[in-house]
Amino acid sequence: MIEAMRRAILIHYHEIALKAGNRGFFVGKLKHNLAAALEGLPVDRITHPEGRITVWLGDDAPLEPVLDRVRRVFGVANFAVAHESGREPAAIAETAWAMLRERPFATFAVRVKRADKTYPMMSLEVERAVGGMLKVRAQEAFGPQVAVNLDAPERTCSIEIMRDLVLVSVDKLAGPGGMSVGTAGRVMCLLSGGFDSAVAAWFMMKRGAKVLFTHFHATPERAGQSSAPVARELARRLTPWQFNSFLWMAPFEEIQRHIVAKAPAPFRIILYRRMMLRIAERLARRENCLGLVTGDSLAQVASQTLHNLQTVNDVARLPVYRPLIGFDKEEIMHRARLLGTYATSSQKFEDCCPLFMPKNPIIHSQADTATQAESALDVEALIKLGVAGATLERFHYKTGEVVECGATEAPRDPVVSP
Ligand code: ATP
Ligand code: MG
Repeated sequence: MIEAMRRAILIHYHEIALKAGNRGFFVGKLKHNLAAALEGLPVDRITHPEGRITVWLGDDAPLEPVLDRVRRVFGVANFAVAHESGREPAAIAETAWAMLRERPFATFAVRVKRADKTYPMMSLEVERAVGGMLKVRAQEAFGPQVAVNLDAPERTCSIEIMRDLVLVSVDKLAGPGGMSVGTAGRVMCLLSGGFDSAVAAWFMMKRGAKVLFTHFHATPERAGQSSAPVARELARRLTPWQFNSFLWMAPFEEIQRHIVAKAPAPFRIILYRRMMLRIAERLARRENCLGLVTGDSLAQVASQTLHNLQTVNDVARLPVYRPLIGFDKEEIMHRARLLGTYATSSQKFEDCCPLFMPKNPIIHSQADTATQAESALDVEALIKLGVAGATLERFHYKTGEVVECGATEAPRDPVVSP
């Protein structure tokens, strides 16, 4: 009976399956990340039977927190609560019915995946046999209208027949997809307090990158005015997606004062961005990052015309990734809501930039005119000023909470259960 059978979260991944040569590495990382995400919850084991991942739950494991945490693990294409079942169709139908009977439905489908090719029945035969039994049960319970519908069923029962294991699940949930964080290398994201850069960071994490952050703020942090607490909160909110975050807080007001004093006003924003990129790149190289990330979206503001983007880009040697370049603001806000940064990014603050905003920013700049515009500045000294003033904050996701680590205490990578 179902009560005696083990429960698991059955996880499917997509793209990892394509990485023929180093699938072991990718699957290992996914298991590692699942273990980190579920730390503190009663999980017995994480196994990898025949192309799926199963997270075996302890008897007392609460489902909601488990599902909530799995939902944030990149690499998970879809997942479902699954029950182990006997191998015979009758036993499978019994297990499935125990899961389905909880709420009424009018249409359903049974889908079988038969990884064990020695199983004596073909998938279609199992589907028919189990479907027939379930239909009888469902009609008894919910009325004669209950029917099989293979195109748009209200509920779908999935049966996975493996060599040593049969798992039955209903109602698959969508995972975030992507690749496991930590499989692609590191990048440095220029994190402002707005919506865009936090979402851009999330998209890089989704493809497997570990994202470090640099935030430029006015000094000293002024309560209720500074962008620093907002950026800190954003880094904190992004941490459950990648387990550990490093945030450099770089003072920028003095650098802006130099630019305001010594460069033509229309170039100010471009020159701020160029200085930010240079400083972030220095920090990035020190941390072995392979690229920079910004939340730029084409034509969103004056500094994001193609002309100005290339003028800013011109000072960087590392590639600058802009995952949101083709996104509308609405799409970005929608993403921010889903990933959990919307409320934080909505907070108002008086950034360092508005204090020094020019009336008529240049729209179509060129790299060489920008270089000319900053010719009265000691660029190298300003970079050094920014780098030297940057302080490091670290965040670590542990047992479902994000904790701030002391500056000297290295965030450890979570332990993987075998
Ligand atoms: P966001 O783009 O994150 O919503 P924003 O709209 O205030 O913030 P933009 O003017 O669009 O910022 O700046 C473009 C990009 O430059 C940002 O997405 C971010 O990557 C970077 N950036 C801007 N301001 C800062 C800052 N104070 N610290 C770090 N990066 C910044
Ligand atoms: Mg923006």
